[in-house]
Amino acid sequence: MKKDYEVVIIGGGPAGLSAGLYTSRARLGSLLIEKMGVGGQIADAERVDNYPGFPEGISGFELGQLMHQQATKYGLETLLAEVTGIELQEGQKVVKTTEGNFTTKAVIIASGSERRKLGIPGEEKFTGKGVSYCATCDAAFFKEKPVAVVGGGDAAITEALYLAKFASKVTVIHRRDQLRASRILQEKAFSEPKIEFLWDTIVDEIEGEDLVQRIRLRQVKTGEKSTLDISGMFISVGLKPNTDYLKGALPLDAAGYIITNGKMETEIPGIFAAGDMRHNSARQAITAAGDGATAAIYAEKFITK
Ligand code: NAP
Repeated sequence: MKKDYEVVIIGGGPAGLSAGLYTSRARLGSLLIEKMGVGGQIADAERVDNYPGFPEGISGFELGQLMHQQATKYGLETLLAEVTGIELQEGQKVVKTTEGNFTTKAVIIASGSERRKLGIPGEEKFTGKGVSYCATCDAAFFKEKPVAVVGGGDAAITEALYLAKFASKVTVIHRRDQLRASRILQEKAFSEPKIEFLWDTIVDEIEGEDLVQRIRLRQVKTGEKSTLDISGMFISVGLKPNTDYLKGALPLDAAGYIITNGKMETEIPGIFAAGDMRHNSARQAITAAGDGATAAIYAEKFITK
């Protein structure tokens, strides 16, 4: 494998794969480095209904595979490795990974985000033993069993709707009395008989022996405490940017997101950022793909300047 490229792309979700499609078609030597497998977060989505061009929807896994296939056709190379840092050296950038270092003229950071944790007692102990962050991956373990979903955003409601196909009952626990999720998802959830809502409620603790058996709840307005017997607890409380490896190399905002301008340029010439870990991203597959294309276009201009 080569060690020197014109563009190195970090992350293989819709942002990175779209960037790779554009840089490869611009005939720039392009390497995409991905930690887990292409597709990013969308690969876990049972069905994606809001990516244009697929009127019947498409599985997130298949969408990721198709994006990768398309970019590879034009010459994008892919490496499975974890990026540990970026260094600037005499007009070039060095991308450090668990599979060695790569030099490049431009870097497009598209490392996305991961599910945030609640940080409550029992969460870590029962992860994989009833606590899950991915309904598409784990719903089938909870056939005809009661489960809970924590969160009120698009992800929580999408998970609840998917879980309703398997579980006996799905209790959505939300800390406020209004959902953040889009109207279309809210309407679907409110008309699904298996889904119930607990408003203004937070989870204090997850309990069980070997597996999850119950959760301890608190009504935030009244302070009233209660317990709920469940077999599965799905946590969907937002995202955390995957930027820890950039600390010290690139300015990040207080929450760890990367600040860019409209050309996806960061403060460092030749380093671009696209997708979910960009400050103010709309965090949709389609906007990530748009960011990736924009970053690639301006990376090409930077290289050929
Ligand atoms: P999100 O929109 O940030 O929602 C997070 C939810 O978790 C909010 O309801 C929030 O409550 C709640 N929450 C946060 N911290 C909490 C805590 N400590 N305890 C209890 N509840 C907590 O995140 P998301 O749903 O993961 O979605 C992330 C992005 O992906 C969004 O931009 C979303 O639109 C997108 N997405 C889109 C789709 C789709 O279009 N079908 C599907 C999945 C995700 P508050 O409401 O009170 O803040």
